[in-house]
Amino acid sequence: MIPVKGYAAQNVNEKLAPWDFERREVGNHDVQIEILYCGVCHTDIHNLKNEWFPGIFPMVPGHEIVGRIVQIGNHAKKFKLGDWAGVGTYIDSCRTCEECNNGHEVFCTEGVQTYNHKDREGQPTYGGYSNTIVVNEDFVFHISEKLDLPAVAPLLCAGVTTYSPLRRWKVGKGHRLGVIGLGGLGHMAVKFGVALGAEVTVFSTSPNKEEDAKKLGAHHFVVSKEEAQMKSVFHSFDFIIDTVSANHDINPYIGILRTNGVYINVGLPSKPWEISSFSVVVGNKVITGSGHGGLTEVQEMLDFCAEHQIVSDIELIDIKNINEAFDRLEKGDVRYRFVIDMATLN
Ligand code: NAP
Ligand code: ZN
Repeated sequence: MIPVKGYAAQNVNEKLAPWDFERREVGNHDVQIEILYCGVCHTDIHNLKNEWFPGIFPMVPGHEIVGRIVQIGNHAKKFKLGDWAGVGTYIDSCRTCEECNNGHEVFCTEGVQTYNHKDREGQPTYGGYSNTIVVNEDFVFHISEKLDLPAVAPLLCAGVTTYSPLRRWKVGKGHRLGVIGLGGLGHMAVKFGVALGAEVTVFSTSPNKEEDAKKLGAHHFVVSKEEAQMKSVFHSFDFIIDTVSANHDINPYIGILRTNGVYINVGLPSKPWEISSFSVVVGNKVITGSGHGGLTEVQEMLDFCAEHQIVSDIELIDIKNINEAFDRLEKGDVRYRFVIDMATLN
């Protein structure tokens, strides 16, 4: 077994603290990655607090992993020693079902999440808040050395989760796109929306994020708590992408969609929505969701980012400050992704 240093919560709602554990030896089709940076996704908080379902503890969160390849299995061919590599939210799937065959490995019912899950042998999985990980090479992505590595980490979840639906719905020139919530996912949605040629408006509960939104490339900024500002954009958007982590009323946003407008939800608040049937019937509105992305899509997104020089705006943190970063993330005080510098583990 490979000894690993990491940070774990020993139980639900407990603070993260140093924890040593082990990972499997590198199998024939595996690679071992020395983890250099790991992004902090709001999903980590949902999981640590059992907000969706009972979690598996001890829990080592982290599914925005980047680092370098330090060991290669006998039959693994995709990487060379020293290559930069990334791992996202899942690390295995069955490879034979309809989802896997259609490039939707993320929806495989036998898929394995990077942490807070059990692998196909029934062993708990531990995430990227640690110094090394062993993963089947098919679930590891190439990262261009043209990009700033710590700022690439969030692309492995926040990046692909916003890129994937914008591409699927062919958002681009001539479209008005609204992005709700300027956090980790939201700020990536702004960057991708702008890169794809859309006219982008940020809807935020934080008036003090306006200047940043414009720097990120957004054309307009609406304070969603201000009724008059919301009224001024009624019936004017082709697409909306909702990235909000907390329970909130989506009805006002359905109202700002044009006829045939599409509301894309990627946020995962715990409570079900309540929406009026009339709000979607009048104007043929579409409400849809999107989950992460398939293996091909993740690599396509990373290559798109290399071509367009897109990375995340990050605040690099010492792992000792992770609990404080969670508190700030819960208050919406993030600009715009915390990334852990794994060198601080030592
Ligand atoms: P985040 O960085 O915390 O950003 C969420 C943003 O939502 C905040 O910055 C804030 O933006 C806004 N917000 C917070 N509380 C709000 C409230 N009560 N009402 C309205 N807006 C509020 O979170 P994230 O990491 O981007 O993740 C966002 C959500 O996506 C989470 O639920 C996460 O689990 C989910 N997620 C889904 C997928 C998927 O596959 N679909 C993948 C990753 C994450 P403002 O200050 O601008 O209002
Ligand atoms: Zn995530």
